[in-house]
Amino acid sequence: MNSNPPLTNVQARDLDAILHPYTPLHTLPQTGATVIDHGKGVYVYDTQGNEYIEGMSGLWCAGLGFGNEEMVEAATQQMRSLPYYHLFGGMGIEPAIELAEKLKELAPVPISKVFFTSSGSEANDTQVKLAWYYNNARGKPEKKKIISRIKAYHGVTIMSASLTGLPYNHKGFDLPIDRVVHTECPHYYRFGQDGESEADFVTRLATSLRELIEREGPDTIAAMIAEPVMGAGGVIVPPKGYFEAIQPILDEYDIYLIDDEVINGFGRTGNWWGSETLGMTPKTISAAKQLTSAYAPLGAVMLPEDIYQAFVDHSRQIGTFGHGFTYGGHPLGCALGVKAIEIYQKLDILSHVRSLIPVFEARMKKIADHPIVGEARYCGLMGGVELVADKATKQPFDASVGIGPKAATLARQNGAIFRAIGDTLAVCPPMIITAEELNALFDRMEKALDDTE
Ligand code: PLP
Repeated sequence: MNSNPPLTNVQARDLDAILHPYTPLHTLPQTGATVIDHGKGVYVYDTQGNEYIEGMSGLWCAGLGFGNEEMVEAATQQMRSLPYYHLFGGMGIEPAIELAEKLKELAPVPISKVFFTSSGSEANDTQVKLAWYYNNARGKPEKKKIISRIKAYHGVTIMSASLTGLPYNHKGFDLPIDRVVHTECPHYYRFGQDGESEADFVTRLATSLRELIEREGPDTIAAMIAEPVMGAGGVIVPPKGYFEAIQPILDEYDIYLIDDEVINGFGRTGNWWGSETLGMTPKTISAAKQLTSAYAPLGAVMLPEDIYQAFVDHSRQIGTFGHGFTYGGHPLGCALGVKAIEIYQKLDILSHVRSLIPVFEARMKKIADHPIVGEARYCGLMGGVELVADKATKQPFDASVGIGPKAATLARQNGAIFRAIGDTLAVCPPMIITAEELNALFDRMEKALDDTE
């Protein structure tokens, strides 16, 4: 029997017309969608007038929150002057040039060129095509496999979903495709063995990576892709020394590191890039989401000079570099990227995020003591609260309880939006949040956990 209130008119229209991403399609008819109508600052409002603190920045992306007037103004100006143009065949767009210049300035490693896409998935898909193209160009046509990690999230196109290491992205879709191999996930709480120290865990993962490379054949592997802090896999912060341990192994076998900064980038971890916080030295970088603070869709791939030069040489031999999206480098996205970075710098967003980290940390430590919380993990302003049936044994709740979605629903009833990732509640608020709003957000999470028990 359905004990939910009847659907409102807009919910009925939604159900009638929308195929919802990442949604249990069989239960949606009972609950209906929460239709969001408008937003201001860290708050969003649904069509029934309910107010929520957006504890997820939408999908880890609206770093400047909602209704930022400077962004609206920048969008309006760009739409008036040039609503669309492209970069194909040697055409240019000024906002794209300006944004690429800014990204080169901000990048954590020397970057020569920026390739624009419309999303993070397209950026990672492009990364793989470029790795293949690069190895063909340098006469290593066998060197094509990409290493990713269990629980990684890199997107939903056929290749980026294959890189993703989450079963529900593969199940029913005949994925992953060949040329992708997954190595272990650096989650000590879940995958550390009894009596194993964090340092030993890191050593074991590094050894396992080496074994994987040797088993597959180093000459068949082009690159490894990694998020500094894994986001949609459950906010997994690798143990200290993890990247420092795996990076020399990759170097030894001429396998380069692709840094997926789609969530981590632009201040989320307290530095411009998660790679700076986590001790990673990538060769190429993917960015999206907070690149425009989600005010328009945009992704970017950043490349060093040697890869670019190999492309130029290859183009001389085989002709046109045959890759590009109609909306890659869209003037609206690029103008908003330029403006978002300008606002981050004007607000000194890094100092603001750093000033909030102690508040975030204190609240996560308190939540870690809650009877149904197994682990409360965090880095910068992103966190994951893993719910367990038994704290001592780490025994998960029975799957039939649906503990994550249950807690997220209760939180929403308390006026706070979090994202359930399996049994983990993710929190990733707009970076402009104040300490007072952050405390209110965590108060609502705590209440939801109390109600969940
Ligand atoms: N990479 C990471 C780390 C992500 O978190 C996401 C999306 O959540 C993606 C890639 C895919 O980005 P998009 O949804 O824009 O295609």
